[in-house]
Amino acid sequence: MIRSALIAACLATVLPARVDQPGQTLRNLIERPYLELADLATRVSFSGSQYAQVRRELEAEKKKQAQLLESQEKQLLQKIAQDRKELERLNRLASRDDEATTEKRREVHCRILELERQAYEKRVERQHGMPVVFDNRLAKLSLLEHWPAEKSGVDAQIAAGQARQRRFGDVEDIGVRKVGEGQEKDVKKGEEAIKDLKMYGLMPPEMTDERVRNYVQGLANDLAARSDVKVPIKVTILTSKEINAFALPGGFLYVNTGLIEKAESESELAGVLAHEMAHVAARHGARLMRKATIAGLVYQSAQIAAIIFTGGAVGIGTYYALQYGFFGLGLALNLTLLGVNREFEAEADQLGVQYCWRAGYDPRGFITFFDKMASEKGYVRAASFFRTHPPFFERILSTFKEMEFLPPVEKLKVDCCEFQDMKEHLKVTTRKVEKERKESPKLRRFPECPEPPPSKDSQITERSTGNDYERVCCP
Ligand SMILES: [Zn+2]
Repeated sequence: MIRSALIAACLATVLPARVDQPGQTLRNLIERPYLELADLATRVSFSGSQYAQVRRELEAEKKKQAQLLESQEKQLLQKIAQDRKELERLNRLASRDDEATTEKRREVHCRILELERQAYEKRVERQHGMPVVFDNRLAKLSLLEHWPAEKSGVDAQIAAGQARQRRFGDVEDIGVRKVGEGQEKDVKKGEEAIKDLKMYGLMPPEMTDERVRNYVQGLANDLAARSDVKVPIKVTILTSKEINAFALPGGFLYVNTGLIEKAESESELAGVLAHEMAHVAARHGARLMRKATIAGLVYQSAQIAAIIFTGGAVGIGTYYALQYGFFGLGLALNLTLLGVNREFEAEADQLGVQYCWRAGYDPRGFITFFDKMASEKGYVRAASFFRTHPPFFERILSTFKEMEFLPPVEKLKVDCCEFQDMKEHLKVTTRKVEKERKESPKLRRFPECPEPPPSKDSQITERSTGNDYERVCCP
């Protein structure tokens, strides 16, 4: 009962006004936010065959989209092959280039680079972006179908006095309970990994701006103080458009400017930070690293980065690829260093939600951020957070269940003016950094070619999620 009071209090501020719209088709409904769907789920009724029908439709659409992207990539590759033939023709003309041939050759080089970039983008979209968009829709469909039964299950467990019997159910004991003992032993591992990442040029430049760093560090401290983390959290802000954050063993938390820019409220950022801290607390990275040497893992990351981000082709250096459009450090890191696997992700989701709740931040921020990243095509491509993560439905469902299990809190913090002020400041700083970057000498293999247009990911227009967040100003 207290639980429903909390929901009612929060729904008034978080959920959009338009909730119940009878006559909506299932197909339309799954375009709505997760939070709205969880609420709607108990009030709509569709038959099993209706759900099955939409599932089939989505699978068919996904297949069609994949075929389209594949044929577009093929066409680009054919054009590249033609251009290579053109180079061969030029090479047969004479032993030395005259002025006209030099110019022609330069044109062909630049065109090949540009076509390779476009083909790469098509491939990433087919392999990562598009599947995420469809997985997200399928997860929404499943949430609508299964949430009422799942919620009743949780309610029954709470009523029977068994809420604390779930894994990590002792939420009142956060900070003194046993989660990932021996975290302090991981500091050395984390330091080594950082050194190696820097050595291989895999780490984007640090953002030195004190105001942004202090803000994020403050938020991280706030969460850490109410978590199972036993090591100091050291925040570093990285200047990268990639929407990602990651934590290395021992409490080294890296947050990209791209992620901060895309978080629309303090609770969204808190949700992501708390998730990453959970990886530190539960020692996920360290547990994975036990099986391999750090240098080996980083070297592997560098190889993956070089192959994936450059399409295995000459032309665009890894550094360039990481910095200017081929976002992807997160992908390489997730695959190796960070130990992303189903079990660890589920744990980090659950613990992260608990830390937000304990620190007084609305844990639903994690869901709204997740939702936004997964729904917008451009975001998905930039958000490496999703590329390697387990199926959406499992994650969303367990996050919703955990939120249901948590004892209600009077007033959860959703947003804060300090957060919005920091974001304004970040916008100005990023613009300045971007300008300086354009003017500075570039690390590019073919500096004579025009710089490719900014990736579509950085051109996404800001949109409103439709959430009418209450702005709670910090005193
Ligand atoms: Zn994770």
